[in-house]
Amino acid sequence: MGGLKKPVIAGNWKMHKTISEARILAEEVVRKSPEVSTATLILIPPFTAIAEVKKVVAGSQLLVGAQNLFWEDQGPFTGEISPVQLKEAGCQVVIIGHSERRQHFGETDETVRKKVLAALRHDLIPVVCTGETLEQREKGQTLPVIKNQLEQSVFSMEADKFEKIILAYEPIWAIGTGRHATPEQAEEVQSFIRNLIAERYGKIVADYAIILYGGSVKPDNSFSLMKEKDVDGFLIGGASLEAESFVAIAREAIRAYEGKK
Ligand code: PEP
Repeated sequence: MGGLKKPVIAGNWKMHKTISEARILAEEVVRKSPEVSTATLILIPPFTAIAEVKKVVAGSQLLVGAQNLFWEDQGPFTGEISPVQLKEAGCQVVIIGHSERRQHFGETDETVRKKVLAALRHDLIPVVCTGETLEQREKGQTLPVIKNQLEQSVFSMEADKFEKIILAYEPIWAIGTGRHATPEQAEEVQSFIRNLIAERYGKIVADYAIILYGGSVKPDNSFSLMKEKDVDGFLIGGASLEAESFVAIAREAIRAYEGKK
């Protein structure tokens, strides 16, 4: 994971973009990507557009991801997509445990754990999401909630597995709401997560761990968020649907990263 420790900028397109729209967006990002070549850019389209986006990014440094997967390799699981199928379609990355999946589709820490293991079995990099609700934050439960989610999902894994995971702190109240965490709020949780990793796996693993922030990231808040010590990049929803704002966030992240090296 050490080689990836430069700003990681991942765009979660959610249930947006047809295949032809996805092609246009990916082409625009590829065209602009030389300006931000010192960041790792990841495009995460809906399943139907993965193969098309993969064709567009061929020959560039961009990675392609999926928004979910099922933990079995094949079988009678109507409507599910396996890690084998994602790999063949060209994915290198997969989001696991996004709060929208937890909220609408019954994702739990246990299913997150199984999905992470399945992804790792097939050399897919899992981006594991963790975050608190507004109610939990207001009750002062943020840190215990995050700790519990991570303990139940990924901290039971051995270091050789955990090292391959990217974590994303995504406060649920900040996703798609236009209300982002302040840099201090993001740093409080992300340094807490890094300390938990250090306690569990040691300082070297913690230093190399990639912890993204997600939740209403925009070009105008990305510099101040990325300046924080424990913010290693972003998982972006809405602002990743336009090439210009996605690349502008990467540009700001690189600028902030250069200042903290
Ligand atoms: C997300 O979908 O992970 C996300 C953070 O969305 P948004 O940037 O739109 O808040």
